[in-house]
Order: sequence, then structure tokens, then C-alpha cells
Amino acid sequence: MARICKKKPAVCTDEPLSNSNVCQKMALLRSILSTAYGPTGRLKQIHNNVGGHVLTTSTSTALLKQVDMSEPLLKMISTAVQHHTARYSDSGLFMGIFMLRLIENAQKYNLRTVAAAKVYKHFVEECNTYLKGDSCGCKVPVDFTSCDSLIALACSMITSKPACMLNSKETQHISSLIAQAFLYSIPCNSSGVTCFGKTVTIGIEGQSVSDSSVFPGLLVDVPEMLQIVDLKRLGSGPYKVVVFNVSLSGDISEIGDVALEIHRGVDPEHDLLQQLLKLGEQVVKDKVRLFACQKVVHPILQHYLRKHEVVVIERLGLALMEPFVQISGAQPVASLYSSVPAEAYGIVKGFCFQSCGSRELLQLLPSKDAAVSTMVLCHRNETMLEELKLTCQRAEHVLRLTLREPYALLGGGCTETILATHIKHMNQSKGATTSAALCVSQSEFLMAAEAFCNSLQSVALSLEHDGQVCLIDLTYGHRWVQDIFFKTCGCGLVEDRSNLEKTPLNTAYHTFSPVSLENTDSHPRILDSFSAKLNALNVAVEMANFVLDLKYVIKDIN
Ligand SMILES: [Zn+2]
Repeated sequence: MARICKKKPAVCTDEPLSNSNVCQKMALLRSILSTAYGPTGRLKQIHNNVGGHVLTTSTSTALLKQVDMSEPLLKMISTAVQHHTARYSDSGLFMGIFMLRLIENAQKYNLRTVAAAKVYKHFVEECNTYLKGDSCGCKVPVDFTSCDSLIALACSMITSKPACMLNSKETQHISSLIAQAFLYSIPCNSSGVTCFGKTVTIGIEGQSVSDSSVFPGLLVDVPEMLQIVDLKRLGSGPYKVVVFNVSLSGDISEIGDVALEIHRGVDPEHDLLQQLLKLGEQVVKDKVRLFACQKVVHPILQHYLRKHEVVVIERLGLALMEPFVQISGAQPVASLYSSVPAEAYGIVKGFCFQSCGSRELLQLLPSKDAAVSTMVLCHRNETMLEELKLTCQRAEHVLRLTLREPYALLGGGCTETILATHIKHMNQSKGATTSAALCVSQSEFLMAAEAFCNSLQSVALSLEHDGQVCLIDLTYGHRWVQDIFFKTCGCGLVEDRSNLEKTPLNTAYHTFSPVSLENTDSHPRILDSFSAKLNALNVAVEMANFVLDLKYVIKDIN
């Protein structure tokens, strides 16, 4: 007998930000995010309560997806960061740290919610204008005539993910593979609306990272019993292709959830096999050379096809169906009861065997301008391989974003310090008129400005995890580390010199307009995605204002 429980009333939290428990949890989340930030960020290990897989990571996507937040406010912040990284693949940690600092600082400076919201919104618009403008000192154009800036962008993304565990040579190798995969994904000679192709990633565990490689076309497991001599026997391509997305196992139970009416004396399994063989006869007659199936192919049909020199690929899987269709131009056949229509056939240019470390794979070369490539990533163990796969996929996505906005931002904390310097400088001349226009008192305006700039600089400070002092130079506004071995700023653009005045970050210094470095031969070493950071900056402010403005949290606890 089911027990009837009385429904519990919803729990209402008044002024959630004045609740010390909520604030402590927010501070803990900020600490988790900021300690994971940057190339020397500390790794996080996530275990579930039933043992098994252990995740070691420092990426916001992996961290936030795995950690279940009990507090509704934190859940909302986590969701906002995850939505951002799903769309932009970068700057998730930046967004989380900046947003939480904006909230903390508004409380620390005891700002009225409405005043903080107005001033924060004004400053983020100021940042947008500066970042999109021509005089922006923290933006560099991405030069598509050479691979250097693409590789530098990919390299910055990989070095900021220490759980990938790569040395500098491996980082360089993987960065150029990402740039290569990105270039393969751009279709050539296409007219009208152009879509990116696809990069399929295959992970091989227990191999050296240097064995990783990128191949044009699609790599699949070598079908059972296929030998090099079989491919030679086929002669030169192109080859006719057919692909099925239904099971050809001949198993009656796979037909689906339907009621079957079977007449006496009829053997459905036998009839199904006859149907499959009829299909086999047709494709052999139509001179198909590659027979692929998303699911299982009956062994007798496989044997029949192989006997007629048709290469059979079974269990292709759902994930490979789309790239397979892209490279071959075939239309997946969804029925085995009707003959294959002529327009369903596709073409591949050729096949060949490829050795990737210890694994043999079959490479299918695209017939036409199909921008599909396969990235084979090798790493020493499963955890590192998982982080590397995720990082490479995100880095390639970031490169794709540069086609929309062909810029990159200076990395290494320099963009944050330059933005803070620019805002402070603007306030010196326009502070009084802006505060009046925003209808906030001048003292409130100045405190909110301090809270905003301090939050930006706190993100730059979060890059340091080894107790070294972070500095800002008072000419260019770049970020530095007080270390005799570092001869350049965080992004690598400015070289140190004896008369370059510097001061610790987040301490008082006179305001100045950051000088842009022009006509210089040096290039920034560390770059961040322009689109990703711009969006992260805006969403962080929007979310911080939203959280600050929350009056009640009502939670159903049934
Ligand atoms: Zn710099």
C-alpha cells in the first residue's frame, strides 16, 4: 500500500545574498574556479559516490557539469557559465570568476543594488565600445595568410588546460594539428551558403602524444577480415557506396515494437535472410564497392558481399553517420524491404590503411569537396586523453569563431589589466557627468567603478598560483609577474626594460591611458578568443546584476 505523505510547503529565502551560508558557498565556488584558472591552475579530481571513473580536470565545462549544486543561486550561475561554454568553448572560468567577484565586491563596498547594476552596465558597455573600436590596445587581428596566429590561439587554449599534461614540444605538435583540422573543415570551391565540415576525433590510449595526427576524410576501424590485398583487388577508385541506418542483422526482434502475425509454416528468420540476400544481390548488380551499415550486418550477407569484392563496414555508429554521409554524398537507406533507389548511392574517392600508433584504421577519402577530417589523438592514459580531446574540440571551435570576428585578445591577464586601466582613465575625465547621467551619487559611482575594476584585476590575479606578486606596468597597462626569469608581460607582447614602472595589481596607482604598442616586431605569445571573452564579459555583468537584484528564492522541497 502506498503511503500518503503530506506535501511540504516551499522554502522561501528572503534576501539570499544576506544569508551567510549562501555567501560561503559562492565564495567556495569562486575559489574552485579561480584556483583552476590558467596554465598553472590546480587540477580538480571529481569522484562519484559509487567509485569507478575519476575525472581530473581544470576546465569549467567538465567541472560544472559534474558538480551538482544544491543552492539555486549557484545552480543558476553554473548554468550560465555552461551555456556560455557550449556556445563559445572558451572563457568559462573567466566568466565565473569575474561574475562572482562583481557580486562579492558590490557587497564588500556596500553598494545599493540599483547603483551597482547601473554602473556595472555602463562599464561593460564602455568595455564593448573599447574592445570593438580601432584604438583598442588589447586586440590583435588574426592573420589568415599564415598559420601563426591560428596556432598561437590553439596553443594558448592548450597551455591553459594543465590536465592535458603536455610538454612544450607536444603542445606545439597538438596546436598545429588543431590548426590543420580547422583548415580541413573549411570547404573549398563552394558557392552560396558555406557550412563548416566536420572533424571526427578518435582517442588512442597508451600511446605517445607525438603519434597524434590529422587525416583528411574519415577513419574507421578496419572491417574484420579485410586485407590490403582485398583493397588492391578493387583497383583504383572512385567507388560506389551504399549506407544503411537500419539493422541488417536479420534478427526478428530488431524490427521494432510491433505485433507480428505469423502464418503456419512460415519461418520469419529465413524470410528475413532471403530479403537481406536480395538486397545484397541488388547492390552487387549495381556495382557497389563499399557497403556500410550503422548497425549489425548478418554474417551470411557479409560473406556474400565479400565474395563479390564488396568492402563491408558494420556497426558504424550514430556519431559517424553524419560525416560518412558528408564524405560519400550517399543517402542513408532506412528500409530493407524495398530496393535501393539509385539516388541513395554515394561515392568515395578511395580507401587505404593507416597505422596510428598501435592501431590500424581504414581511411575513406572524400569524393568531392567534403570538408571532413579525422583527428587521431594519442595520450598516455584515459584521464589525460579525455581532457586533451575536449580541449582540442574546443580549440578548433574557437578557431572557427575567428572567421566571424577575425580578432584575438591579448592573453595572460593583459586584457583584464588594460580594460581596468582604460576604465579608470575614462572616469577621471567623464566620472562626474556619467554619475549624474546614471542618477547615482559621485561617491557611489566611484565605489562601483572600484568594484568593477577590482573584479577585472582579480581575474588577472587568479592566474598566479605560486605566491608570486602580480604587477601592472604604468605605461602599457599589461600584467607582469615579479620574477627575474620573466622578461615579458603576461601575453608576451611587451618586453621588460629597466625604466618601465610597475606596481602591484589591485593597489592604488595614478590613472593613465594605456599606450598601445605599435610598430613592434614582437608578437603576443598568449591569445584569447575575442568572441568568447566579449560574450563572457557581457554575460558575467548581466548575471551579476541579476543575482544582486534577487529578492526571494522559493524552493520546492518535495
Ligand atoms: Zn601583455
